[in-house]
Amino acid sequence: MSLKVYNVLTRAKEDFITLTPGVVKMYACGITVSGDAHIGHAYQSVVFDVITRYLRYAGYDVKYVRNYTDVDDKIIANAAKAGEDPIEFAEKFMAQTDKEMDALGNAHPTIMARATQCIDDIINFVQKLIDSGHAYVSEFGDVYFRLDSFSEYGKLSHIQVDKNDTGVRKDVEPGKQNDLDFALWKSAKPGEIAWDSPWGKGRPGWHIECSAMNLKYLGEQIDIHGGGRDLVFPHHENEIAQTESLTGKQFAKYWIHCGLVKVNGQKMSKSLNNGILLKDVLAKYDADTIRFALLRNTYSADIDITDSLLPESLKHVYKMYSVFNSLKDRDFSMSDKAKTEAKIKEITDGFEKAMNDNFNTLEVIAASFGWFNFINAELTKKTTEYDLQAIADKIKELFGVLNILQQKPEEYIANIRSKILQQNNLNAEDIEKAISERATAKQNKDWATADKIRAEMLDKGIVLKDGTTGTSWDINL
Ligand SMILES: [Zn+2]
Repeated sequence: MSLKVYNVLTRAKEDFITLTPGVVKMYACGITVSGDAHIGHAYQSVVFDVITRYLRYAGYDVKYVRNYTDVDDKIIANAAKAGEDPIEFAEKFMAQTDKEMDALGNAHPTIMARATQCIDDIINFVQKLIDSGHAYVSEFGDVYFRLDSFSEYGKLSHIQVDKNDTGVRKDVEPGKQNDLDFALWKSAKPGEIAWDSPWGKGRPGWHIECSAMNLKYLGEQIDIHGGGRDLVFPHHENEIAQTESLTGKQFAKYWIHCGLVKVNGQKMSKSLNNGILLKDVLAKYDADTIRFALLRNTYSADIDITDSLLPESLKHVYKMYSVFNSLKDRDFSMSDKAKTEAKIKEITDGFEKAMNDNFNTLEVIAASFGWFNFINAELTKKTTEYDLQAIADKIKELFGVLNILQQKPEEYIANIRSKILQQNNLNAEDIEKAISERATAKQNKDWATADKIRAEMLDKGIVLKDGTTGTSWDINL
């Protein structure tokens, strides 16, 4: 089985063959730290985290570079509004975002690059484009990429730009020779944060930052370039124009884009005021639940964060941990080794088949329902021929690629239970007290009271379960 990847550049699912055997060079555009990270940032970062983890699972040595855009118009504007220094403002949100990405369970990229730490590399890059005629300096000290100097412009987005359009909107960007040209270097306005350059004080444009970081950390050619679909045009198109004009070589072999995030069917936007901040989601839900919700989707499709998505996901993850937990203290020493191994192989093959099909995590999660149903069904039998613990261990290992189900089941369950009890102003003693009061009522054949206690507990999110050894309780998710 070999990995197939949908390549946005060719609009086709292709065999994944790296530039150097066994090595993957991957870059994904990161966050512009002009404020709090939102659920869209979480989605994109989890997708590329899982792609990295699967490539490592498949045996590749992966070098994954991700960036922070820590200087741009929005950062400068938002910092000014807050009365803060733009560098300190960006630092603050980078530190906060780092913490949130850790809490979300993302592994650290091999390199976290920052625009402001690559200024010299950016200046060198721009100078080379000027020297080769791909860029020009305006009379105002801005540097623009000459779009009609790159004949393949539009090959990623398949957007046809009219290169003969020479209309110049001098009012918007004076000094620009063609409307389609884009800024590589922006001269500083008075009082604005700026760096020295051969063209005067200024700061880099957004697109050049990623081209320069790629060249610096990964070289002239990379295997995978990723980002959100909203970056295809113009950002990624411009990255291709810059890098390929400089090197004369194909920049990225595979372009991978994840879908956009919607909230209850609507685009997330400022005007609708329906943005979901990552910190708010993390305050309410654990990382396993959030990752399960985001990965129960094909990454290239848009994801809809409905009101029921996270509660539903919590229910599934809690159930999976509960199945793992129910295996403890069981004895599988009499199990059939060959049958167990065959089951493990079937599960592993199913996992790899799904992931090899363009990292189809939706398919993995769908298949996993069958795996857990299998364990549950075997558990209800008096005896089982399978070593269910060994099967569960394999499922845990495979879910490591999604970084879900990696906690100790009893700890996860205890954490979720105490969270739910807290939300309902309950404690375990209250529940035990209700159980014993209900037992007394039942002894007195006072069924009405017994039913009332049960209903009251259910209202508070607690389900009472009568079994052969008495009554136990669980949270009712
Ligand atoms: Zn980028």
